[in-house]
Amino acid sequence: MITRTSIALQSENAEHDDGASKGATLTPRQRSQDWQAQLSDAVRDPYALCRHLGLDPAWLPGAEEGHALFPVRVPHAYLSRIRHGDPDDPLLRQVLPLERESDSVAGFVSDPLEEAEHRPRPGLIHKYRNRVLLIASPACAINCRYCFRRHFPYAENSPSRGQWETTLDYLRQDTSINEAIFSGGDPLASPDRRLAWLAERLADIPHLKRLRLHTRLPVVIPDRVDGALLDWLAATRLQTVMVVHINHPNEIDTHVAEAMARLRGAGVTLLNQSVLLRGINDDVETLARLSERLFEVGILPYYLHVLDPVEGAAHFDVPDAEAVTLVETLRTRLAGFLMPRLVREIPGEASKTPLA
Ligand code: SF4
Repeated sequence: MITRTSIALQSENAEHDDGASKGATLTPRQRSQDWQAQLSDAVRDPYALCRHLGLDPAWLPGAEEGHALFPVRVPHAYLSRIRHGDPDDPLLRQVLPLERESDSVAGFVSDPLEEAEHRPRPGLIHKYRNRVLLIASPACAINCRYCFRRHFPYAENSPSRGQWETTLDYLRQDTSINEAIFSGGDPLASPDRRLAWLAERLADIPHLKRLRLHTRLPVVIPDRVDGALLDWLAATRLQTVMVVHINHPNEIDTHVAEAMARLRGAGVTLLNQSVLLRGINDDVETLARLSERLFEVGILPYYLHVLDPVEGAAHFDVPDAEAVTLVETLRTRLAGFLMPRLVREIPGEASKTPLA
């Protein structure tokens, strides 16, 4: 748990001042509906993050190290959902680096899913039969402290258009593949003309049936769901599935609900995956409210992942036995279709492993 005292350091960090004032006062640029402007206006400085939230503009000794390893990035649209003056806010906890990220913990490694073993072409990860991941963007709109790809070598996996042709050849030749998944980073951090180009190439491969997108951007910046995105999603012959990433019900405000309605209007099936995180959603009440809220806005709960053991995130870990007990209690609270599947991803396994 973060305490006010642990977060509070000196207040004289004027050199980091980005003009932030108290509360969620936004500049016209921050209020812009242009998602790319919102992306570039994201808070990228831990001092500014605290100051925007009315927390003593403070810093933890050692937390700057976490920021140096994996920089703070929080768009204002997400920041506006964080409670002012509350260092334990469950959304803040997902984005604020802590000193504990520098701890070395046995079993927590830089590539917990051993993805380096499964990259046969630039930008391609092929772990499971029938489906492949395409790293459609090396960037994210937000940097989540628990991310299992926080050490991923994106520089080696950002294909040029020519390299994508090599990757597409791999898909053309393997007729067992029926689903392509846009992943990242966050694939929706890429411009729509690039994504539309890739979606068109994929639609030309006759054995592909589905295009799935794993993204957090419609949650973080709901204005990302604009006409250009909806146009190419609605135009492809492939069935479209979007798996968003929401860990706490407070992440779903009216703007997110409206973005989800626009996606459903374009024929997109909406699913959610969450990560079970210590201090954020590791209680039955929060998980039940999350499932109910997801369904209210047209999203089906899909997966509840236990934490992948990535270096720097051990303080978020909930042991498997505790996770199973939580989910068994949750099952007594929710209709079956609102229950996410509790899973762990184990390198080398043919699918995710159900835990309960
Ligand atoms: S949005 Fe997803 S890929 Fe990006 S940092 Fe968060 S968890 Fe990782």
